[in-house]
Amino acid sequence: MKSAHILMLIAISFLWSCQQDSKWKGQDALKKVDTHTVPIQKQLKGIFDIGDSIYCSNDFDGARLNGVVLTNDTLVTVLITPENTPINKSPWYAFNIWSSRTKDVYLKITYLDGYRHRYYPKLSYDRLSWHNLDSINYSEDIESKAGSERGFPTNITMKLLISQDTTWIAGQEIISSNDVNEWAKSLVTKQFITTSQIGESHEGRPINLLKIGKVDDKKMILILSRQHPPEVTGYLAMQSFVETICGESETATKFREVYNTYVIPNLNPDGVDNGHWRHNAGGVDLNRDWEEFNQPELQAVKRFIEKKIDDGGKFYFAVDFHSTHEDIYYTTNPELEGNMPGLVPDMIENMSKKLNDDKPNIRPASDDEPRVTSKSYLFHELGAVSLTFEIGDNTPRRFIKRKGEVAAIELMKLMLKH
Ligand SMILES: [Zn+2]
Repeated sequence: MKSAHILMLIAISFLWSCQQDSKWKGQDALKKVDTHTVPIQKQLKGIFDIGDSIYCSNDFDGARLNGVVLTNDTLVTVLITPENTPINKSPWYAFNIWSSRTKDVYLKITYLDGYRHRYYPKLSYDRLSWHNLDSINYSEDIESKAGSERGFPTNITMKLLISQDTTWIAGQEIISSNDVNEWAKSLVTKQFITTSQIGESHEGRPINLLKIGKVDDKKMILILSRQHPPEVTGYLAMQSFVETICGESETATKFREVYNTYVIPNLNPDGVDNGHWRHNAGGVDLNRDWEEFNQPELQAVKRFIEKKIDDGGKFYFAVDFHSTHEDIYYTTNPELEGNMPGLVPDMIENMSKKLNDDKPNIRPASDDEPRVTSKSYLFHELGAVSLTFEIGDNTPRRFIKRKGEVAAIELMKLMLKH
């Protein structure tokens, strides 16, 4: 092994004090955790000449590549580690690779002990359009799958044809903070949409807010996304949901005459741009900080919300978009009434009819659940009927778009009836 390669491995040979249990759970059991800032490990960023005219880079927003070595003539081994531990087992990876000579290589992705692969590899040649790696070129370490609840291995290998043209490889489509901002800018061309900044992240990135509608703020809804950086499918549903509210339909036009919609499309810009698995730059799962509000990103949201309430406004509905292994609706306890009782169950029922979903996966909160998530805060503190809208990692992208549209239409119809 060349000394440069050893250096790369030294850079990642951080001893994690992991106390992870080995069983994969779709969603960690909700528990109260300390949300004070802790140190995170930053990636060594750059372009890595790994030998044999092969280069890898993590020098872009959204990248995650903690170590890379050319193990032999045709095998490139990549190590992916989390920003800090303990952490939800959702290893995000994103990097690119090229070579001055066109050739086949095997590329192996490994994680630290206790972590398992989650995201099926996506490829891109321009960072904008993505496709799944052909399954013929994908293999999982069979032995390492033993004992894994969902059958996820500790490492995977893909066969790739690399050339002078850059190949981008990532767990999901790369959508950086800049991409989110560009999307928001594209919406602001409509006269009823404005953007503003409500605060700053740990590393000084703006926490941006979109406002849709020009009525007074008596009646409002709130939309959140990207608390958890790799949860791109949830973000895609949010985009479709928001675009539908901004749309030209009669329902959307009427809705905007009654309700103002506020959107924070990227609550964790540091995590998104640093390629974090889960946390912000304070090393904290933001969706466990809605009780203590120790983190600047959530302090900004709280200030914004409190100002609106002080000025006499009311949030009737709130939705926070996430991703997990399957499509799930996490709702509040249906026996408790908020500012618009019955809205979420009716919305899910109407959506499910339109989407021919006979058995929507609905999981209401239990009464003893700690009130540390956005859903709990927005419901118990503000009365906004709240929903955590989870999209599966592998849910087809076209269906995600349709689901976001249908959800927005059914929500707006119901809210106009109330
Ligand atoms: Zn999440």
